[in-house]
Amino acid sequence: ATSVAGVENTPSERSFIALKPDAIQRGLIADIVGRLERKGFKLVAMKLLTPSKELVEKHYEDLKDRPFYPGLVAYMAQGPVLAMVWQGPGVVKTVRQMLGATNPAQAPSGSIRSDFFLVTGRNGIHASDAHASAEAEIALWFKPSELVDWKRDADQWILSAN
Ligand code: UDP
Ligand code: MG
Repeated sequence: ATSVAGVENTPSERSFIALKPDAIQRGLIADIVGRLERKGFKLVAMKLLTPSKELVEKHYEDLKDRPFYPGLVAYMAQGPVLAMVWQGPGVVKTVRQMLGATNPAQAPSGSIRSDFFLVTGRNGIHASDAHASAEAEIALWFKPSELVDWKRDADQWILSAN
């Protein structure tokens, strides 16, 4: 049975991951989401939305003094964006590694940004860079009731420590 919960009953680490409008427009959802799914991380929330300018501004608040900020906000606020929460041991760090560098030209081959994108300004995917930012971003993009607490039978084959 699927129940709904916020933070309780989800002891494992979570990250906020979003496909940006270029990834959606280019039909890359299945290719990119499939990599996260096949790795073994567990999908906890997912929604397609066109974010408000205010939401994007808050999400990228740390970058507000950078010259590319207005263009970045306009790019993201065009939407649609596929907003997700993924869970699993080491998810924050591992997904950042799966993305590769911010500039796709500097991302290692085999990484998502290297394999699907060409330039920093259209790099297709966001992932939280630390536990604290992950929790802040999850709270910014999702209501607690949108996080699905579900038991995955495959966990016995994915997560067992022995
Ligand atoms: N960005 C950009 N130009 C830059 C640096 C960043 O357009 O020179 C955009 C790019 O979409 C990037 C986002 O701003 O993904 C956030 O920048 P950050 O440095 O946080 O990179 P990320 O965490 O996404 O790798
Ligand atoms: Mg960042």
